[in-house]
Amino acid sequence: MSGAGAADQLEFDPPEAQQAMQDDRLRSHLAYLLERSPFYRRRWAELGLAPGTVQGVADLPLLPTTSKADLERAAGEFLCVPETETVDLCLTSGTTGEPLVLLQTRHDLERLARNEEITFRRLGLGPADRVLLAVALDRCFMAGLAYFLGLVRLGATALRGGSGSLPHLAELVRRQRPTVIIAVPSLLLALAERLQADGIDPRQTGVRTLVGIGEPVRASDLRLSPLGARVQERWGGAVFGTYASTEMATAFSDCTAGAGGHLHPELAAVEIVDAAGKPLPPGEAGEVTVTPLGVTGMPLLRFRTGDIAVLHTEPCICGRRSPRLGPILGRQAQMLKIRGTTVFPPAVFALLQELDGACGWFLEAFDDYALSDRLRVTVAVRDRSLTAEMVAERLAARLRVKPEVVIAPAAAVTAKTVQEGKRKPVLFFDYRQART
Ligand SMILES: [Zn+2]
Repeated sequence: MSGAGAADQLEFDPPEAQQAMQDDRLRSHLAYLLERSPFYRRRWAELGLAPGTVQGVADLPLLPTTSKADLERAAGEFLCVPETETVDLCLTSGTTGEPLVLLQTRHDLERLARNEEITFRRLGLGPADRVLLAVALDRCFMAGLAYFLGLVRLGATALRGGSGSLPHLAELVRRQRPTVIIAVPSLLLALAERLQADGIDPRQTGVRTLVGIGEPVRASDLRLSPLGARVQERWGGAVFGTYASTEMATAFSDCTAGAGGHLHPELAAVEIVDAAGKPLPPGEAGEVTVTPLGVTGMPLLRFRTGDIAVLHTEPCICGRRSPRLGPILGRQAQMLKIRGTTVFPPAVFALLQELDGACGWFLEAFDDYALSDRLRVTVAVRDRSLTAEMVAERLAARLRVKPEVVIAPAAAVTAKTVQEGKRKPVLFFDYRQART
């Protein structure tokens, strides 16, 4: 395929060849962990696991998973190199609110750069592109750094705009003419509005590619979500998504076909597992569990992300045979089981976004009886002709369960959802016993 370059050629190989290469990488990864990782050495000794238990990705379910709680409890035990070999410190949020520290080596930064170079090549970017990074490059975040390093490797020109100042970003778009913008979708929308307020049509700025991070721009059928469609409509360019997290140190990104995040087999092994950690077949929704390959500072094994998605293994129309990860459907911890049907809060938010006349909302989950949760949706309406029953019917048509719907004044919704000290409104309140 033209323009693909050697970096991601492997993804066009037959699945068996990709699997063989990944199995080989996994064996090296496990040998490294057994030699260097205090955490995994201890854990395997406790479990009586012999070296060589795992010969390939298919054997991974024989090993225990690693949770965020493990990282919190035994942070220091994950480091595999002396601190003199670490060059960057990343912070990520822990489950208790305390930040987790992940130390990276020079080699790890090169791996991140290669990962993002592959991402950008999949999207057809090259040295002639000017890429506006409207993401945080500071505060010990990994993402902005990884994109920057990837652009350097690609030979494109990075515009390090940051995410803090809309006027500054608007000025960069106007004067420096980026061809690509990377940002969270809500910032892409706000930036388009800002330009429009200044009398500039975002569609005439020369931006042809928009990469949405942090929130999915696709729905579960892989078509653009209402949010993704809005970004596309405002900017007129092509909208793509990418999914990544600090712990997994790997990004899954759309190709130009926009059919889910491709996984480069050299960078990570991915399993989709059920609540007990048992692998699920392709096409079934479960928790994304990632073994990032080739990390040397704080390498992990079967890291449970807490995110729910589906893995697609059929060939992509771009010609790549690498698996693709669908959009994140929600968090494992926020999954609702309502009379046998699984519902994730983001799916409800997406439907509410499509409702003309609704101008604010929040969800509350309660225990109903032993095996069922109860969902209450509170909606503020701009248009009084939109009744609770109509909202409930609309939601039921797509969710296949009918939630309780309450209409409330906009001020009450704002009072509940906008909380001091929180960057984003809180739209989901979980009052179920086991989750608090
Ligand atoms: Zn593709």
